[in-house]
Amino acid sequence: MQQLRQNAPMAERVIPLVDQRSAALRAVVPLHAQAPTGHLVDTRGRPLRDLRISVTDRCNFRCSYCMPKEVFDKDYPYLPHSALLSFEEITRLARLFLAHGVRKIRLTGGEPLLRKNLEALVAQLAALRTVDGTPPDLTLTTNGSLLVRKARALKDAGLNRVTVSLDGLDDTVFRRMNDVDFPVADVLAGIEAAHAAGLSHIKVNMVVKRGTNDHEILPMARHFRGTGTTLRFIEYMDVGATNGWRMDEVLPSAELIERLRAHLPLVPLDPASPGETAERWGYADASGRHDPALGEIGVISSVTQAFCHDCNRARLSTEGQLYLCLFATQGHDLRSLLRGGASDEAIASAIAPIWQNRSDRYSELRSSLPADATPGPRRVEMSYIGG
Ligand code: SAM
Ligand code: SF4
Ligand code: SF4
Repeated sequence: MQQLRQNAPMAERVIPLVDQRSAALRAVVPLHAQAPTGHLVDTRGRPLRDLRISVTDRCNFRCSYCMPKEVFDKDYPYLPHSALLSFEEITRLARLFLAHGVRKIRLTGGEPLLRKNLEALVAQLAALRTVDGTPPDLTLTTNGSLLVRKARALKDAGLNRVTVSLDGLDDTVFRRMNDVDFPVADVLAGIEAAHAAGLSHIKVNMVVKRGTNDHEILPMARHFRGTGTTLRFIEYMDVGATNGWRMDEVLPSAELIERLRAHLPLVPLDPASPGETAERWGYADASGRHDPALGEIGVISSVTQAFCHDCNRARLSTEGQLYLCLFATQGHDLRSLLRGGASDEAIASAIAPIWQNRSDRYSELRSSLPADATPGPRRVEMSYIGG
């Protein structure tokens, strides 16, 4: 077991690291195969609608809340290329998940644009169909560093939308947060390139850490207001086991909205779809009504307001393990079925009971944990299962 000694300002913290990646559960093919019905529900009545696929566990940033430099250093055991699902394997699984009712596919990582020729995967996924006969809603989350180079090819390959992560406009703050000295200007150029390529509904995700970048909330809101880009503020989460998360560094969304409303008029909006993670707020005009030309913001209250009750998301790790929750400690190994010669019918039949037996609702349960509870060491990292 590796150990991390963090240079925390208050007291020295030692974070034990356990590699959970290989501790997967076997996916079992039932004796009697069942054809997908296009509608799988779990034990809490939640349908399977959204599949997030991590295409690489590597990243060119070292955001302290996700891949802290002290852990993800040159000795970190990233997965070898042979362990990664190939584009063909990903596409095959995606097709089976669509047959089970998935409508939306998000490519993520690590940094997905580091995966060579990602546009080829996008083209393969864009050619698939949902049970309604429509193309899947295909989107990508990226740190934006390679978007200037990639936006056009991704759009041409069939990508519908993109979400870019950006934690502030102040260059010093942002360079410190990504911890590789990457400038804000290059991410903004990436967002521009995405607009220019015709990608629609561009979103920007800002993880807010109290005392680190919360003073950037208002400048970010002002910058993106009326630009057609929707800014979403994410509460800093206790995901993974390496970021040294502390509750006092979380800025609750309610407080964030209060701070913004002191400067910018905002009105609550209805959710766009069931299972939507963000609570929406629209910029208001002089009469106090939402002005669509000014756009909207979103707040994702992953810590202070659990949204497990309608969580319809499954996550496929870089090496083909199916995770049912961001905070799960184990995945279900689908790669051995793929590589063991199982038929489509057998793999689809193995996926069904995994979702049907799902009862995960970590965020709902978190509120019943003691306020000073720290995350256990057994969780997988977000860079591995994808955000
Ligand atoms: N590298 C890409 C990026 O940064 O957009 C995609 C992968 S990243 C894991 C996906 C999203 O998770 C990003 O928006 C990132 O800001 C968010 N994220 C990572 N760690 C987080 C944490 N501890 N709390 C909240 N959000 C986090
Ligand atoms: Fe990389 Fe994204 Fe994690 Fe930052 S949040 S370290 S960009 S994977
Ligand atoms: Fe979904 Fe798990 Fe997050 Fe709850 S904690 S919203 S079940 S991923």
